[in-house]
Amino acid sequence: SKVPPIILNNGIEMPQLGYGVWQVPDDEAERAVATALEAGYRSIDTAAIYGNEEGTGKAIAASGLPRADVFVTTKLWNSEQGYDSTLRAFDVSLAKLGLDYVDLYLIHWPLPSRGRYVDTYKALEKLYADQRVRAIGVSNFLPEHLERLIAETSVVPAVDQIELHPHLQQRAAREFHAEQGIATEAWSPLGQGKGLLEVPAIVAIAQKHGRTPAQVVLRWHIQLGNIVIPKSVTPARIKENIEVFDFSLDDEDLAAISALNEDRRLGPDPATFDLG
Ligand code: NAD
Repeated sequence: SKVPPIILNNGIEMPQLGYGVWQVPDDEAERAVATALEAGYRSIDTAAIYGNEEGTGKAIAASGLPRADVFVTTKLWNSEQGYDSTLRAFDVSLAKLGLDYVDLYLIHWPLPSRGRYVDTYKALEKLYADQRVRAIGVSNFLPEHLERLIAETSVVPAVDQIELHPHLQQRAAREFHAEQGIATEAWSPLGQGKGLLEVPAIVAIAQKHGRTPAQVVLRWHIQLGNIVIPKSVTPARIKENIEVFDFSLDDEDLAAISALNEDRRLGPDPATFDLG
């Protein structure tokens, strides 16, 4: 594959760039994931709440690729937190995907006010021990939530998938992850495409390299060591977003992008988010 792997803390390999399917309706997901697999993506990020595990699974099956060549992530939704309900929800996700294991299973949000993420994670540990998942991790966990998990459970999460883009660079979280051996995975890596791709500094770097702003932002993540899962349903953009392994940003480019941090979230604050 054209995408290099990140070695997770249990030794398994995860492609550093994958395809995210949030907000892709189930009946479009099959075609979108098929386009991504044809373009060379070998990692797909879905979630129970996205409602498109079935379309995602159909595309993987129809691709004819060996199961071992595709890295599949799905996530446990908030309403299912708790030990027994997590085990049941995992079975439902697996059935919808039409798979007999997933590569990475994540707790979607910590919901600290409900106090159930430790029990929930113990169910993930059980799934891992039973070899029904190749790695387990979390999403939207702040360092304080990870500290509690690490103190009260035995498997250090392989991944924390968090909102991360040039306007929200997450330096403290990334440093904490690095100290603990947790891989940082960036959601909304393109800042959802909104204003970010028109920022003059990014446009200028893109022109300098003969690339698009989206490619520059994805390349910045890659050079930082983040795992990224950009989303598009437009075939040309799906292809463009994976063509980021044949050029490099220089120190000046990296410094200019570093200067764009505003600590500004597009999504909810994990400390208080409590829906679902
Ligand atoms: P993103 O940053 O990937 O941006 C996607 C948007 O950017 C597209 O809808 C399109 O409008 C635009 N875009 C994409 N490629 C482009 C290109 N080449 N040129 C111009 N514009 C382009 O945002 P996202 O979809 O929010 O995040 C990506 C993935 O992250 C999701 O699909 C999902 O898998 C994951 N995610 C996870 C969580 C979580 O809580 N764990 C939350 C949000 C997203």
